[in-house]
Amino acid sequence: MTRTVLVTGGTRGIGRAISEMMKHKGYQVAANYAGNQEAAEACAKELGIKCYKFDVADYDAVTDGLAAIEKDLGPVDILINNAGVTRDAPFHKMSREQWQQVIEIDLTSAFNCTRQVWEGMRDRGFGRVINISSINGQKGQFGQANYSAAKAGLIGMTKALAQEGAKKGITVNVVAPGYIDTEMVQAVPEKVLEGIISTIPVGRLGKAEEIASMCAYLASDEAAFITGATMTVNGAQYIAG
Ligand code: NDP
Repeated sequence: MTRTVLVTGGTRGIGRAISEMMKHKGYQVAANYAGNQEAAEACAKELGIKCYKFDVADYDAVTDGLAAIEKDLGPVDILINNAGVTRDAPFHKMSREQWQQVIEIDLTSAFNCTRQVWEGMRDRGFGRVINISSINGQKGQFGQANYSAAKAGLIGMTKALAQEGAKKGITVNVVAPGYIDTEMVQAVPEKVLEGIISTIPVGRLGKAEEIASMCAYLASDEAAFITGATMTVNGAQYIAG
């Protein structure tokens, strides 16, 4: 039976590359997005997949989105919590809105989505949850107290859920990308970006496909014994112990 994958934020950037890779691997793919209709339509057309608009920070919207996906493609077997945003500011200037938006979209979203597919995965005795964290959740980053907290939170959540899912055939892992060449990084000022690249031993930004291939591996049957892990994909910019 063909497994169904939900990629949150699956219509642009890293998420789109994951959607494409999973489609290529033969899965049924549902790509979620927040509101960029143009990107979603291009994604649906070019990849031949269905795209679903809902806000992952809104629990009830996720309920409705999952119901639509289940109706079209069946229950979600593989959940890739990828949707994320940044709202950077030095802490002394960070507003409550900047803090809350990032915590809700980058961390609470993983609760909203995972909680609502978890019981089905348990019942069916199979599941894969892959949480897209960040190098900045591992090491912290100036101006990103909100983002670093949310992304580190995903790592803690993953470690707890890996233990809870283990006996039920569910693996839960983190992929922690370094700096990847997407719109999120293209928004960084050129001078700052040059400085960042100079700290990456491999000497370049990562490619979205390099994150996608790690996700595809973690989703596979071959990766059944990998759970609770944080897979860093960062060109040796930060080597976690
Ligand atoms: P992009 O900004 O290119 O794409 C973000 C995607 O998430 C879009 O599809 C967007 O939808 C969707 N999205 C945003 N908010 C919501 C929401 N509330 N509900 C549903 N979907 C939402 O991001 P990247 O590809 O750069 O990043 C993807 C993930 O990888 C993020 O979690 C990010 O933190 C992480 N990451 C990225 C790195 C990088 O270098 N790019 C490095 C480390 C981690 P729409 O198009 O409708 O706005």
